[in-house]
Amino acid sequence: MNHFQYKDGVLCAEGVRLDLLAEKVGTPFYCYSTATFARHYKVFVEAVPTGSLVAYAIKANDNLAVLKTLAQLGAGADVVSGGELAKALAAGIPAGKIVFSGVGKTKDEMRSALEAGIYQFNVESEPELAALDEVARSLGKRAPVTLRVNPDVDAKTHAKITTGTAETKFGIPFSRAREAYAHAARMAGIEIVGVDVHIGSQITELEPFETAFTRVREFVGTLRGDGHNITRLDLGGGLGVPYENSNMPPPDPSVYGAMVARVTKDLGCTLSFEPGRLIAANAGVLVSKVIYVKKGEAKDFLIIDAGMNDLIRPAMYEAHHEIVAVTEPKVGSPRPRYDVVGPVCETSDLFASSRPLPELKSGDLVAILSAGAYGAVMAGDYNARPRVPEVLVHGEQWGIVRPRETYADLIAKDRIPDWLSS
Ligand SMILES: *Cc1c(COP(=O)(O)O)cnc(C)c1O
Repeated sequence: MNHFQYKDGVLCAEGVRLDLLAEKVGTPFYCYSTATFARHYKVFVEAVPTGSLVAYAIKANDNLAVLKTLAQLGAGADVVSGGELAKALAAGIPAGKIVFSGVGKTKDEMRSALEAGIYQFNVESEPELAALDEVARSLGKRAPVTLRVNPDVDAKTHAKITTGTAETKFGIPFSRAREAYAHAARMAGIEIVGVDVHIGSQITELEPFETAFTRVREFVGTLRGDGHNITRLDLGGGLGVPYENSNMPPPDPSVYGAMVARVTKDLGCTLSFEPGRLIAANAGVLVSKVIYVKKGEAKDFLIIDAGMNDLIRPAMYEAHHEIVAVTEPKVGSPRPRYDVVGPVCETSDLFASSRPLPELKSGDLVAILSAGAYGAVMAGDYNARPRVPEVLVHGEQWGIVRPRETYADLIAKDRIPDWLSS
């Protein structure tokens, strides 16, 4: 459930009309709902076993105001870079609730995380383990570590967000993992605390999770037999969200939580989770204005002022996003089909193809839904298009949580070398 609903014929974010917001901040802009973030976070916390750490995967949406909203609810963070670590700490997420994932952590990043005193490192390879051992020893510390295992499970999601099969760069294959643990146990800078697994994103079935977690449970038995002290299980993120009304919606968090409880009972491990999309996706929309309606030979194009540089998911993952008119259409009004495209000079700058929508004209507003995760964070300024603002709504209140970039900002990013400046 989300808090973007029509009221008196206009799409609102909680108590704020999106048409009035568009007048105030201009288009395009991202708009987030505090109540939706909070609801999703709470639903997940209540679904998983009590005492679990819910470490929000901040790569989904790392706006500081969003992080602060979640921090105040008690969320931890899953970070995948030194930059994300800095943002999580700046937002007030306690270091003791931060886990550090990712295949390419540098020694500098490891040092910052060790100095901050994070909860755990999810280590993805043996060379990374050696580097972490070295950095930890140089600081006179022991790094709390889980090894991310790759369970070779097909999550049946888009190839670009699959991470748990043997072909991907992620994790350590089970065939090598036992040896890696034995190796880690001999390192003075490493304290083995558990096992980590994350098999992909936008997973819409329970079965791949259950298969992976069952393999992990068996592996915990093996590791304990080898003498390792396994007290934590990090089960990653990846639970999918409904991007469109379908008769096969992703599993409810409560169903997922019940499965986790069943599979991990008797293990006596503290669990952690890294949901990103589940918390953020349906907590945000991208509001855009129709520039032109272009009549084509084969179809009509709705050319809007948002482009693939603002929201890349359709171009990158062939993702479906619902698109609605900000002014509520009258019941029974016609729904012509449009290709909804942006102004960027790329054929892939296409948000929807042959999409039935209310009849729209130049100047009308549309909202691209489910844009709260992997939206603004993946935006860029290709075609010299300034990054669009982000607005956070809280009841009747709203605030610009990231201002729109200006042309001056764009120009100021570049430097002219000496030989060109005279
Ligand atoms: C991306 C990622 C997540 C979050 O995935 P979602 O599908 O957004 O829940 C969690 N853990 C790791 C290691 C990731 O890379």
